[in-house]
Amino acid sequence: MKDFAYTRARSVAEAVSSQGKFVSGGTDLLNLMKDGVESHDLIVDINGLPLRGIAVSGPVLSIGALARMSDVASHPLVRQSFPVLSEALLDSASPQIRNMAAVGGNLLQRTRCGYFRDIASPCNKRVPGSGCPALDGENRGHAIFGGGDQCIAVHPSDLAVSLLALDASVRTSKRVVRLDDFYLTDPVRETVLEPGELITAIEVPVGRFTSRYLKLRDRATFEFAVVSVAAALDLRGRRVCDARLTFGGVAPRPWRSTAAEDALRGKDLSAATIAAAASAAVRGAVPRQHNGFKVELVQRAIKALLTDLGSVR
Ligand code: SF4
Repeated sequence: MKDFAYTRARSVAEAVSSQGKFVSGGTDLLNLMKDGVESHDLIVDINGLPLRGIAVSGPVLSIGALARMSDVASHPLVRQSFPVLSEALLDSASPQIRNMAAVGGNLLQRTRCGYFRDIASPCNKRVPGSGCPALDGENRGHAIFGGGDQCIAVHPSDLAVSLLALDASVRTSKRVVRLDDFYLTDPVRETVLEPGELITAIEVPVGRFTSRYLKLRDRATFEFAVVSVAAALDLRGRRVCDARLTFGGVAPRPWRSTAAEDALRGKDLSAATIAAAASAAVRGAVPRQHNGFKVELVQRAIKALLTDLGSVR
């Protein structure tokens, strides 16, 4: 690991003006630095900032960016009113990591693409212009949506997928950005955050949706999603008045299918409607040599989740 300077920020203003790399739990950043994937001259510890609160404020649930994953997952309000959040968090990582990792940092974690994390490999995300060995190499875990010819890595955050389903926003030191607009598919610029911009809170609209999360992975714990689905429905009886369907493990950013949502909106939730949504969700998929199974898996995940959510027989 390269040498770096370390300081503790005493205020958001001090953190923002520091020009350094923010760290809270450090559960991803320290590994990246140890492996030589990232290096930073100055690490700014933001754990002393008062950004851990979880509370309803007017029409939104506000979650401080430094709230730990485990604290959010177990919060009674989150468990009762936003089960998709609690489920996504409890399906993430290990209990030890959930106790350390902050939700703001979770949204910014880097891809698990093995080539990205191996500095002996070329990688357009790590060294722009060096190539993408995943395109014709080991791409079982890679994107079937939203990738191009530069990078097909997938975003690893379960939390981001669940928040996108809830139409959440990110509050930063300078603005509020809807999660719909927060992530980019550019291999180098992954979010709209500008240098020095600090996430201070996550804001979730209250009372809009019934929600659930389903994560499919290679083992039952401490594993990233092969495919995940988050569903947020405004259900009146069987009628779907509004719907948001989002996916993990399939795209360089948390992925949303408005086509699948359109197939649900205004319809009764039935086996036929769910099948139509599943089929719409994978339209336009671009599978690679080793990940074609994800096209089927996405559809099965949607059917399982919506059938359960709507108690469809
Ligand atoms: Fe790098 Fe992206 Fe290609 Fe992985 S998929 S090797 S992160 S450019």
